[in-house]
Amino acid sequence: MPPPALQDALLHWFAQHGRDLPWRRTYLPYHIWVSEIMLQQTQMDRVVVYFNRWLDRFPDIANLAEAREQEVLLLWEGLGYYSRARNLLKTANLLCRRHGGVLPEDHGALLKLPGIGRYTAGAIMSLAFNLPHPIVDANVERLFARLFNLTAPVKEKQTHAFIWHKAAELIPEGKARFFNQALMELGALVCLPRSPRCDDCPVRGHCEAFAQGLVGERPVAGKAKETISITMASGVLLHQGKIYIQQRLADDVWPNLWEFPGGRIKKGETPEQALVREYGEETGFAVHDLEKIAIIKHSFTKYRVTLHCYHCRLRGSTTVPILNAAQEYRWARPDELENFAFPAPHRRLINRLAEKL
Ligand code: SF4
Repeated sequence: MPPPALQDALLHWFAQHGRDLPWRRTYLPYHIWVSEIMLQQTQMDRVVVYFNRWLDRFPDIANLAEAREQEVLLLWEGLGYYSRARNLLKTANLLCRRHGGVLPEDHGALLKLPGIGRYTAGAIMSLAFNLPHPIVDANVERLFARLFNLTAPVKEKQTHAFIWHKAAELIPEGKARFFNQALMELGALVCLPRSPRCDDCPVRGHCEAFAQGLVGERPVAGKAKETISITMASGVLLHQGKIYIQQRLADDVWPNLWEFPGGRIKKGETPEQALVREYGEETGFAVHDLEKIAIIKHSFTKYRVTLHCYHCRLRGSTTVPILNAAQEYRWARPDELENFAFPAPHRRLINRLAEKL
């Protein structure tokens, strides 16, 4: 007997095995938009926690549009890639000004909004409005590489175009919402990167790589991503029970987030020498009495950062910095650090600090 049509098999499987996720209970455009932005670069389990917190605080677009950026960043803290949060805020403002506070049911109009690209626009159009627009994420790329036994890397231009074309062509009439999710869900739960669960796969009968015994060789590997290692030093300056923090510049990496001063370790410097120099350059403070707290490793985009973290003390009596690399500063009590948005490695430093203190 021939296998059921690919689409029927997928839709049937998704109806039985699709995960119960908060945005799948409403399919409201705002919910789809926020969840899709959060899901970029972040695992599903974490996204569910952040999504629920986000909706508690910003139940709709109008609420979000009225928020202060610092509050949005604080709520986003831990998800990384903060431009996503800033774009949500910026777009909420634009929607309130130009679109009556709602996401437009128009692919072209969505693409003009900050932070919304081809994938997110397709997700909103198909998942929220159930219109036939394709979406291709890493799960769909891997699934199609196997289903259609693609012999070139999925990011290669022609292969990429083929995958998007196929994803559009396969959408069954009136079923874009469930079909697109079924594709992504199958990739996430069954057609796994390392050990695909072919025995449980509803589309095994359609899978060319499976039929040819080539599952382990698909997707074809692309070029390895370039990585850059950076070594940095950062210091928690303690003075009379308070901690010095400063707010990063708006046009720098991690714009407007708060931090402990520090920077890259130059060739020939020890981490301690780098920290003393960086404090002098950034704040005018002379620091001494350094004591190591931790070494924190952090990866973002292509960077692999090793951060040497210290306690340090102020030499001299002035507590007013010269702000050479920041827009604002505070002397905060340790318990007040919760109220400021920090980049992930500095938040981890705060957690280590709390253990020490
Ligand atoms: Fe993926 Fe295996 Fe299903 Fe093919 S049969 S789509 S490789 S899980």
